Amino acid sequence: MRAEPQDFSRVLSSMCTEPHPAAREAAETFLATNPGDPGTYQTVAELEGDAVDALGEIAGLDEPHGYIASGGTEANIQAVRAARDLAATDAPNVVAPESAHFSFRKAAGILGVELRTAPVDSDYRARVDAMTELADEDTALVVGVAGSTEYGRVDPLAALSDVADDAGALFHVDAAWGGFVLPFTDEEWHFDHVGVDTLTIDPHKMGRAAIPAGGLLARSPDVLDALAVDTPYLESTEQATLTGTRSGAGVASTVAALEALWPAGYREQYVRAQNNAEWLADALDERGYDVVEPTLPLVAADVPRSLFARLREEGWRISRTGAGELRVVCMPHVTREMLESFVADIDALARTPSTVE
Ligand SMILES: *Cc1c(COP(=O)(O)O)cnc(C)c1O
Repeated sequence: MRAEPQDFSRVLSSMCTEPHPAAREAAETFLATNPGDPGTYQTVAELEGDAVDALGEIAGLDEPHGYIASGGTEANIQAVRAARDLAATDAPNVVAPESAHFSFRKAAGILGVELRTAPVDSDYRARVDAMTELADEDTALVVGVAGSTEYGRVDPLAALSDVADDAGALFHVDAAWGGFVLPFTDEEWHFDHVGVDTLTIDPHKMGRAAIPAGGLLARSPDVLDALAVDTPYLESTEQATLTGTRSGAGVASTVAALEALWPAGYREQYVRAQNNAEWLADALDERGYDVVEPTLPLVAADVPRSLFARLREEGWRISRTGAGELRVVCMPHVTREMLESFVADIDALARTPSTVE
């Protein structure tokens, strides 16, 4: 095979990044292992326990229950599945803000659960009143987002946990992308802060592990019991996962990345990313574009469609929000030099007339 993967020098759109060198090495070493078969692949099964413990430490949970999933999508699907099966209703629904990741739409479709989405406020955060209105006795799960995919916003999680309590529902926090930056902010987002029942946190995003590595954490073993089909929950039982065979690469690289980076390395990485996001937001603002303040290292700005298209032609990997804004995720591979070169291209393109408008 001759193909080479893209390099990261113009990638501004991705929530994934270059794995830490130790994580890359661990992924290769454990590529041919299957933590779904712990009786055969004992070492990687034990590593998975270490990974879950370490994720629990980040997420403020002393005795975490959970596993390394294929990503945030699987973790969210499984959180919905467990909540559905634990709820005492024939017509379960999930209440989430409209900013929730599209994986909840997949979950609802697969699981036959009604997804009710509530509008967000002017700062793109879940509106507690709207969430309250949608929740009822058939609500199995209330979802809050800690680091939203489009704007990097953190919902009012304490209030949403009360909404879940009042409805007799479980409360799930989706920190798939935010989980490795939020520990270094003032946000109240995890098990130790608010009444979280389940949480998604992806090592293969800000955690610098190799893809595929997602994380599902639960406060109670009942959640894993609900997922373990026909068997009571046992440590590292394979029945709790959605996938059967799965690569040990994600598990091993998660442990390697955490050993290398938690907490000082992740703190440094967050500070650099956040400074870069603020620098880019200022640069775009100075050029007259409307910018959504980056509360986490993610910048959205209203730039003309033609400019967006021409930046793509220049090879910049950029994406758009649902509302059409330019969206730049300041992942660890995104350096200040990259952003300077990006802004220089914006200036150059803004000076030359466009053929499309
Ligand atoms: C990326 C993301 C997901 C989905 O995770 P995958 O690893 O792509 O499956 C879910 N929720 C949020 C908030 C995300 O940013």
